[in-house]
Amino acid sequence: GSTGKFFVGGNWKANGTKESVSKLVSGLNSAEITSDVEVIVAPIFLHLPYVVDHIDSRYQVSAQNCWVGRAGAYTGEIAPEQLADMSIPWVILGHSERRSLLKESNDFVGAKAANALAHGLKVIACIGETLEQRESGQMYDVLEGQLKGVADSVSSWEDVVVAYEPVWAIGTGKVATPEQAQEVHAYIRKWLGDKVSQDVSSATRIIYGGSVNDQNAAELANKEDVDGFLVGGASLKADAFATICNARA
Ligand code: PEP
Repeated sequence: GSTGKFFVGGNWKANGTKESVSKLVSGLNSAEITSDVEVIVAPIFLHLPYVVDHIDSRYQVSAQNCWVGRAGAYTGEIAPEQLADMSIPWVILGHSERRSLLKESNDFVGAKAANALAHGLKVIACIGETLEQRESGQMYDVLEGQLKGVADSVSSWEDVVVAYEPVWAIGTGKVATPEQAQEVHAYIRKWLGDKVSQDVSSATRIIYGGSVNDQNAAELANKEDVDGFLVGGASLKADAFATICNARA
């Protein structure tokens, strides 16, 4: 496993209203969470200022995406320097929903990661294969291409967390087995050691995402190379999310 702290991210995706977000923040503020875990939550851009202002300091806040360059004439985009200006320290990049629905390429995700890091953000870089790719034996090629997209652009990995999220497990209720997760996490760690450096390989948190819930988190968290989770659906319920945050404790 990584030498870093256990890491749990809550990806709220395009969910929530003013009311539901305020309830979720209250629930999280009163939840009991071990101090042994680094926890971030990622609301939509519109809810970020509210969450930054109201959530307890045990939680950090993340955006779910950002622009690939500086602020300027890029209608509809938000640049990393603008997130930093709003005291938002993290950004999720390369989520499979963006890769598939918005056709974000490996190079584009890598360029966004480098740009975000250059403006002082920390990055959760998501990778993962589809069921078809897994079943046709292309899984490691796909994962390598996604990792390489990040590695070719990023010069320092200090502020990068890698999220392994098999697409077939995201939002499907079909969680990877602890063995499946461990196998891929070990591959990622080895890849980082071979292609980047041994130091990066041992320091980088490799987190699992895909139908993690309060029932299955502990078993996954026991696996050597599972350094935390990225959680979608279950992160919208404060109690379930807190249980997941405490899965290693
Ligand atoms: C995600 O989209 O990052 C995710 C892991 O979703 P879920 O937990 O809902 O599968």
